[in-house]
Amino acid sequence: MLPVLKIDVPSLFIVMTFNLAIMALALPYFMGRVNRAARCAQSGIALQTVGWICLLASNTFETGGWADHLLSTLSMACISSSMVFNAVAFQLWCGWKASVRAPAAIAILMTVGYGIGFSNYAFRVAWANGLLVLQIATVVFILCRKPQVPVGRWRWLLVIYLSIQMVVLACRAVLGGFYTAEFPNFFGPYLVNQVFALSSNAMMVLSVVAILLAHRDEAARELERLAMLDGLTGALNRRAWMLQASKDLASSVRYSQPLALLLLDLDHFKRINDTYGHAVGDHALQLFVTGLRAVSRGGDVFCRYGGEEFCVLLNSADLSSVMAYDERMRRWLAQHAPRELGFALSYSAGIDMRVRDSDTIDIMLQRADVALYQAKSQGRGRSLVSAVLHSA
Ligand code: GH3
Ligand code: MG
Ligand code: MG
Repeated sequence: MLPVLKIDVPSLFIVMTFNLAIMALALPYFMGRVNRAARCAQSGIALQTVGWICLLASNTFETGGWADHLLSTLSMACISSSMVFNAVAFQLWCGWKASVRAPAAIAILMTVGYGIGFSNYAFRVAWANGLLVLQIATVVFILCRKPQVPVGRWRWLLVIYLSIQMVVLACRAVLGGFYTAEFPNFFGPYLVNQVFALSSNAMMVLSVVAILLAHRDEAARELERLAMLDGLTGALNRRAWMLQASKDLASSVRYSQPLALLLLDLDHFKRINDTYGHAVGDHALQLFVTGLRAVSRGGDVFCRYGGEEFCVLLNSADLSSVMAYDERMRRWLAQHAPRELGFALSYSAGIDMRVRDSDTIDIMLQRADVALYQAKSQGRGRSLVSAVLHSA
């Protein structure tokens, strides 16, 4: 027993179960509508709660009796299943596809083995704790892999406390399995029980902190993503495109690669709105972006520049490539617009290329805009290259 503090193991577990139950009820209510990852984390806490209630309840029945057997086995099923839900939540939060094969297989194996071997105390303690260590190891492995999306430090918080929990559980497995005489009872006043009770309490608190941090992380990522997109069409917005375009311009200079820019403006769009209504106009803008997406290739970055104007940056593209892009887009529109909208959709465009190392995106946009203006004044439905390319 810890000498100074009289740590009472059953009370610690009762308090922890009580707090878990409060969390299991409070989190779904106060977090409101959440996605799959958070729902899995909440389910994990709920299962953990049920597991601990069963474990505490099993202790109130005759040791080794059928009720003890049933409740203890149920408890192991719930606790190991809660780890499966945690595994899914953390995989999703780290940007991976959820795969539960390893933790779920361990959960089934652990529960079945525990239920069958229940009458053998040494076996069941070693089996349950040993397999829990293995199961937590799969979760730690998930957390240690390089995440697919930027995630905060909560990942390491989880890794640290799960690793501590693994060490404590491993000690319990070894002591229960091989030194049974000195460790005959889960709730008894033994050092390993006290450390386990304390670390389980800490784990409960930290897991809630980690869940909330992960959830906040994800919300921030989603906001950042939405801040880069145009709400109507889902294309990049001008700000996000400018950031990307400036980076691409710098690499085009560094690697002496050509860089092309295409500025597109839908023809007589006001008339479309006036004739068919704003909703049809909106649909036309969405269809136009579907077209841009369809004809774009790796290295092409397009955005809704504003209103009914769009801009495409073509990396490593010479004049013939950007002309080919324009051709593909016109063909795509001729094929799809009459079918989808009931009328043809045409656009005018200005084309520009980086000609000097000192060119900036703003300069290229200005030159493309002049060419676009000329395309409009020459009757629309055409694409013109900027004057600087004629003289180059
Ligand atoms: P031009 O051929 O000279 O480009 O003529 P235009 O009518 O396309 O150009 P103008 O600049 O006169 O009008 C652009 C129209 O685009 C006016 C505006 O109401 C419409 N527009 C801009 N944004 C949206 C939008 O999000 N949805 C809809 N439906 N219309 C929009
Ligand atoms: Mg316009
Ligand atoms: Mg227009």
